[in-house]
This record gives sequence, C-alpha cells and structure tokens, in this order.
Amino acid sequence: MADETIFSKIIRREIPAEIVFQDELVTAFKDISPRTPTHVLIIPNSVIPTCNDISAEHEPALGRMFTVAAKIAKEQGIAEDGYRLIMNCNSHGGQEVYHIHMHLLGGKPLGPMLSV
Ligand code: AMP
Repeated sequence: MADETIFSKIIRREIPAEIVFQDELVTAFKDISPRTPTHVLIIPNSVIPTCNDISAEHEPALGRMFTVAAKIAKEQGIAEDGYRLIMNCNSHGGQEVYHIHMHLLGGKPLGPMLSV
C-alpha cells in the first residue's frame, strides 16, 4: 500500500480542513495557501501517489473528481467566467504532496497557462 500523506488525515477528519464536498470516492477541501480567490483541492479517497500511478481501477474516482470540480465551480460562482484545473506530477511538475490532487483555481483572470 502506498504511503499516506497529510491528505489521508484530512479525508478521515483527523486534522482540520475546510471540506466542501465528500462522498465514498473523493474529498474536496479549500487549499490552505490559496493562490487565487477560489482554490479547492479535489482528491481521491484512496492513496494514489502521482499521476504515474493511475490505472484503470482508479477511473471511477478520477471521473468523480471532474464531476465534483464542475459542481464546486458552479457553487463557488466561477463556472461562467471560467477556471483552471491543474494536476502536478513529480518534481518537474511541482508536486509537493504525494497523493494526487486536482487544483480548482478561479475567481480572477488567471493569465497565461504557464510562467516558465
Ligand atoms: P502540489 O504542489 O500540487 O503538490 O500542491 C499541494 C497543495 O496542497 C498546495 O497548494 C498546498 O497549499 C496544499 N496543502 C498542503 N497542506 C495542506 C493542508 N493541510 N490543507 C489544505 N491544503 C494543503
């Protein structure tokens, strides 16, 4: 089994987080260090360390992550203006927490996709 991160503790509500959605497959909570007015992380409840570890068995949870992202974007009032979904992988991708997560970012114009 893959190593747990702080995100597993959030899923089990062992540490505080502002959870905005949870079901049997995924959990969504506000990023502790928001980069944009709306910054929510959507994660599978089971540990998948990186995008490289995704396999067919994870497809239900991954599909649910997108469904929940669209729902939260509507709830947060950013769906019409638009938003960005990002998943970082490993060091070149800037991944810090090794439990895959989708960043839902919005609430202002986000500018170019990458600053390199
Ligand atoms: P990444 O660089 O893609 O791995 O992003 C990790 C994200 O997790 C960062 O945006 C952090 O601010 C966020 N983060 C780390 N710890 C917590 C926490 N305890 N609660 C909420 N967000 C967190």
